[in-house]
Amino acid sequence: MARLVMKFGGTSVADLDRIANVARHVKREIDAGHEVAVVVSAMSGVTDQLVAWCEGALRTRKIFDAREYDAVVATGEEVTAGLLAITLQDMDINARSWQGWQLPVLTSNVHASARILDINGTELIRRFRETREVAVIAGFQGVHKETNRITTLGRGGSDTSVVAVAAAIRADRCDIYTDVDGVYTTDPRVVPRARRLDRVAFEEMLELASLGAKVMQVRSVELGMVRNVRIFVRSSFDRPEDIDPHGNPPGTLICDEAEIVEQQVVTGIAFSRDEAQISIREVQDKPGVAAAIFGPLAAANINVDMIVQNVSADGKTTDLTFTVPAADYQRALDVIVKARPAIGYARLDSATDVAKVSVIGIGMRSHAGVAAQAFSALAERAINIRAITTSEIKFSLLIDAAFTELAVRTLHSLYGLDKVTA
Ligand code: ASP
Ligand code: MG
Repeated sequence: MARLVMKFGGTSVADLDRIANVARHVKREIDAGHEVAVVVSAMSGVTDQLVAWCEGALRTRKIFDAREYDAVVATGEEVTAGLLAITLQDMDINARSWQGWQLPVLTSNVHASARILDINGTELIRRFRETREVAVIAGFQGVHKETNRITTLGRGGSDTSVVAVAAAIRADRCDIYTDVDGVYTTDPRVVPRARRLDRVAFEEMLELASLGAKVMQVRSVELGMVRNVRIFVRSSFDRPEDIDPHGNPPGTLICDEAEIVEQQVVTGIAFSRDEAQISIREVQDKPGVAAAIFGPLAAANINVDMIVQNVSADGKTTDLTFTVPAADYQRALDVIVKARPAIGYARLDSATDVAKVSVIGIGMRSHAGVAAQAFSALAERAINIRAITTSEIKFSLLIDAAFTELAVRTLHSLYGLDKVTA
């Protein structure tokens, strides 16, 4: 017997038939003798609709009261939790739904992007023991203790709910059922030869997730790493009846790197086309200039990603390049233009048709020359590199967006990630 947490995302609970399919997955685990908590998302499209209603309700103001936004958007998960509990009961399985305030899931009071502070799992465990009751928990929501108001965890937040629940009830397994059957070496829509990874280290997954592999919310991976919750990503579309409860289902285990025996040098390649580049030419080369540039950007809540500064030749001026999300491009330009007197520069160059390609792997810590191989491979294909940044386990290249697919495919083959076909 094991204690499990199972999470089902929006597409997996999109209608009553799929909810029935989810219930059969739960039944399979109950029949195998396990204690089960389930965390659900809102049915697909529901949260988007709720957000749109909040925006539509404003006729004169520009921003809404985030506490009321949370009161509205939290309801999506409540519907799914109740429906799944009804479906399970209909199959003669003892089950009940839980909303965030009932457990409770205590969070900070940063509405619309609250952080989980604590979850009390005692009552769930008592019920597993005494009545084998399945706990169906509404993901994405919690409550702020002092104000007693409902909070939500930010879009995609039910991933974080499930990892926190797993930690709270000391689950043996945390299974994320989703519309893909695991984490891939890169996006299979771009590289058909992308392979599913059997295992990926938390740190690698953090990079993959934050770089646009949309499998899991970044914060949920962080939480898994801190609390050491092993997370198994698997498909919810497999027929529950076809799964051997004692076998090894296909999927990807996100775990500590110590659990990965055969570590490859490169694990995956992530890319993002939503980048914009801003280059500030001939800025003063003196203390305080970086602060004069990035201070106002931070104050405007603009996330700066790559930063490259040259060492000046004459000791007087230099060039500085950075990237921001394409959505923030215009705002970032405005901020820099406004701060021009404080920064002091000759001119701005910028581009929005750029993409960032990142190569990720824990093995890079102990292997030299990994990035150098990429530079030659891209050069052979006449792909120009605009900027490079590196960290211990990844390097990122800024290139022209038109070459994104070619670059990703080239690097995917270069590092031996292509699926071997018979
Ligand atoms: N329903 C929420 C969203 O769509 C939370 C989640 O699904 O993880 O963002
Ligand atoms: Mg999701």
